[in-house]
Amino acid sequence: MIVAGGGITGAGVLREAVRMGLRAVLVEKNDFAWGTSSRSSKLVHGGLRYLKQGRLHLTWESVRHRQRLLAEAPGLVEPIGFLMPVYSKRGPGRWSLEAGLTLYDLMAGRRYHHYYGAGAFSELVPGIDKGGLCGGFGFMDAQVDDARLVLRLIDESVQKGAAALNYTSVTEIRRDERGEVSGASVVDTSTGQTMFLSAPVVINATGSWAETLHASPVPGLHLRPLRGSHLMLPSWRLPVYQAVTLVHPDDGRPLFIIPWEGALMLGTTDIDHGHGLEGEIVMDKHEAQYMIECLRAYFPGRDLGLKDCVSSYSGIRPVLSKADKPPSQESREHVVWKDRGLVTVTGGKLTTFRALAKDALKAASDRLPGKPEPKMSEPVFDPAGPLPEKRRGLSTNTWQRLLGRYGQMAGQMVMRAEKKDLSFIPGTLTLWAELPAAAQAGQIMHLSDLMLRRVRPGILLSEGGRAYLDRVEALCRPVLDWDKKRWAAERSMYMEYWDYVHSVPL
Ligand SMILES: Cc1cc2nc3c(=O)[nH]c(=O)nc-3n(C[C@H](O)[C@H](O)[C@H](O)COP(=O)(O)OP(=O)(O)OC[C@H]3O[C@@H](n4cnc5c(N)ncnc54)[C@H](O)[C@@H]3O)c2cc1C
Repeated sequence: MIVAGGGITGAGVLREAVRMGLRAVLVEKNDFAWGTSSRSSKLVHGGLRYLKQGRLHLTWESVRHRQRLLAEAPGLVEPIGFLMPVYSKRGPGRWSLEAGLTLYDLMAGRRYHHYYGAGAFSELVPGIDKGGLCGGFGFMDAQVDDARLVLRLIDESVQKGAAALNYTSVTEIRRDERGEVSGASVVDTSTGQTMFLSAPVVINATGSWAETLHASPVPGLHLRPLRGSHLMLPSWRLPVYQAVTLVHPDDGRPLFIIPWEGALMLGTTDIDHGHGLEGEIVMDKHEAQYMIECLRAYFPGRDLGLKDCVSSYSGIRPVLSKADKPPSQESREHVVWKDRGLVTVTGGKLTTFRALAKDALKAASDRLPGKPEPKMSEPVFDPAGPLPEKRRGLSTNTWQRLLGRYGQMAGQMVMRAEKKDLSFIPGTLTLWAELPAAAQAGQIMHLSDLMLRRVRPGILLSEGGRAYLDRVEALCRPVLDWDKKRWAAERSMYMEYWDYVHSVPL
């Protein structure tokens, strides 16, 4: 089986295919998780707003997946508390939220939500606008490192015999004289070398790019590229210890400010991308302004501005659209299209990746005689191992975080590291030791792969962590086969790329 696309959908398909005993290869045009799957809001959630839109099935399915991932991937998928203020003349009222949150909890089979009066609520969110504040709710969802979720799935698939190639693009689906899929032509995007891969099934998991390999068979239904963007702030700028849901004063859309990996994430927008999908996805000034205005409205005394943000990132939602609704009302359900060995799976969410994998593999089953059905009852990951007895001075939380993100690789990473590298990169929860370990794990073509996806200082720190690049180089030089000249070139390419894609549009 060939899997085109190395985001969460492709990675999920690869992992389940391997579990079924299939020989599978995944090919990704850029780096693994380069697409939307490293640019999400990093929530594993039911999505309260989908409930409001009456999308009960999507919310229910997502809540079930959230509960399973929380149980099966500790340290990678972790609970996060949310706070949602209730104002007398702003946003939804107490009783409609109470009804929605009760349903949300019923779906999870557990009561999480709680109402706080105005005094208690403003203590939980110091600095929040108290004008008209009636109180607010607390509830539970979960968050993840999206790129590491993808990478752990790919790493474990490769350990079990699959192959995964980054910087390799599917250029053509090949068919025999009867029109049945016989494989795919692929090109190594760095060398230009082409290859034919033979397989009876190609799963097209290219997300927003899916129609470049398989035109929609449903009249009038097409992928609508909707851009969503985020701004990152340093955590000291706002005392937000749990995620806070905000309602934009201009259009009533929900936004979040979420603590993540030692920084704060503010998002998101939902607008027509309006550009082709060939190049990089970059936020514009209006989106940045729109988001910061919302934050300013809720924290009026904090004098917050774009000058406080350290980085930005944007992604494209793979949203299927028929009726051209307002972006935020478009469905987030996924689709599966089948055409004689080509199976396209697109849409959906990070949270529900196993459902997408199952549906894609089921759709391919007529091409896989004798193969079992996808085994969804098994835990998604291989056991990462218990917490070790020798902790090398790291806390239980840090160990859990490493086991969740790197699986069985975590133990070796810590044991091999020098003591000084078992400390955090300032402003993040990332250990210095993660850099060489992630670099050694393979397929780093560019410094941006390492800084933006394998580990995330590139989006957590101002100027992409420029101030730390000497230490990054010193740590990774022994494991990356780059000479001095290559390091210099990679550093300057990374900074140029970061300025274009991740700087804050002022
Ligand atoms: C702003 C934003 C916030 C979001 N927040 C959340 C959230 O909090 N929780 C949640 O559950 N979901 C969220 N989502 C949705 C979720 O991120 C996406 O549904 C999911 O990441 C899509 O994954 P994918 O693998 O289908 O696509 P992608 O991650 O985009 O992967 C597709 C890959 O295919 C590759 N590709 C393209 N063409 C080819 C080719 N010809 N050959 C080989 N490879 C190719 C691309 O390079 C890309 O890496 C969010 C989306 C956005 C935009």
